[in-house]
Amino acid sequence: MEYDVIIIGGGPAGLSAGIYASRLGAKTLILEKLNPGGQITLSSEIENYPGVCEVKSGLEMMMCWPEQAKKFGCEIKSEEALQLIMENGKWKIKTHKNEYTAKAVILATGATPRKAGFEGEREYTGKGVSYCAVCDGFFYKDRIVAVIGGGDTALEEALYLSKIAKKVYLIHRRSEFRAAPSTQKKVFNTENIEIIYNETVKKVYGNEFVEGIILSSNEKINVEGIFVFVGMNVNNELVKDLAELNEFGEVKVNLKMQTSLKGLYAAGDVRESSIKQVVAAAGDGATAAINAIKYLKENK
Ligand code: NAP
Repeated sequence: MEYDVIIIGGGPAGLSAGIYASRLGAKTLILEKLNPGGQITLSSEIENYPGVCEVKSGLEMMMCWPEQAKKFGCEIKSEEALQLIMENGKWKIKTHKNEYTAKAVILATGATPRKAGFEGEREYTGKGVSYCAVCDGFFYKDRIVAVIGGGDTALEEALYLSKIAKKVYLIHRRSEFRAAPSTQKKVFNTENIEIIYNETVKKVYGNEFVEGIILSSNEKINVEGIFVFVGMNVNNELVKDLAELNEFGEVKVNLKMQTSLKGLYAAGDVRESSIKQVVAAAGDGATAAINAIKYLKENK
């Protein structure tokens, strides 16, 4: 199946690229391995997307983006892109079901939550260790949980969990948070959030489910849930042997969102120096799509 533009990833960057490319008349396909919306659908509250004044969950905010893209003729398929190669001057994408070709590809594969690296993290995932407060917070109503991390995600999700859980320990490895000052202020003013600075989690213990954690100081804390928000790893698998990456594995792009390869663009969290904000991802998607269409016109 042949398209003008194929977008890999259906988060804010991919959907925005889909809206722009299809509206400009290109035959456009978005391939998304999960549900459209991206990792932001795991966020509990979005309050900084310009023009959206009421606070919304990530899921609510992303709800109409796929419909908007489809309105302009963009196709969206639930398939995972497994391989990307250049063949006879065209990009070829293989999924488990199909093979697609396109003259231009926009990589919008985003990022995945990073593991904190404590003992038991893997075996207790889904049994008390979680990477999504919106998905799992509900299970900890009136219970005690811990949040690990000091960035925007950790603090925002600690605030979200503080409304459900009896108590939230916020464990950070330094004595200063990197989250926005306004979010820090809310955390400092929340009674049932106890901050533990200069500590990491060494180990999680329990039987079938988590019963507690051991900190680097060997202090034991009884918690039933541990929420890990220690940053993201970019999803660069498809291009790691093709395109130029920086030292963090992010795809290098120029101001047109063009990668080191002709006809290949990258947008959103996967690209170099992304500020990892929905508004920026949407902007990247639009930039990549407009420049991909220009490229198609120039290379007919
Ligand atoms: P982040 O900003 O990279 O923060 C990760 C946090 O985890 C840091 O505090 C880091 O500590 C800590 N950390 C890293 N590895 C660790 C480990 N192994 N053990 C314990 N702690 C560890 O990640 P993020 O919070 O996911 O945010 C990612 C990006 O999205 C950021 O640019 C952020 O601004 C943005 N974001 C924005 C919003 C918003 O605007 N509303 C919401 C969410 C995310 P150190 O501080 O010591 O490095």
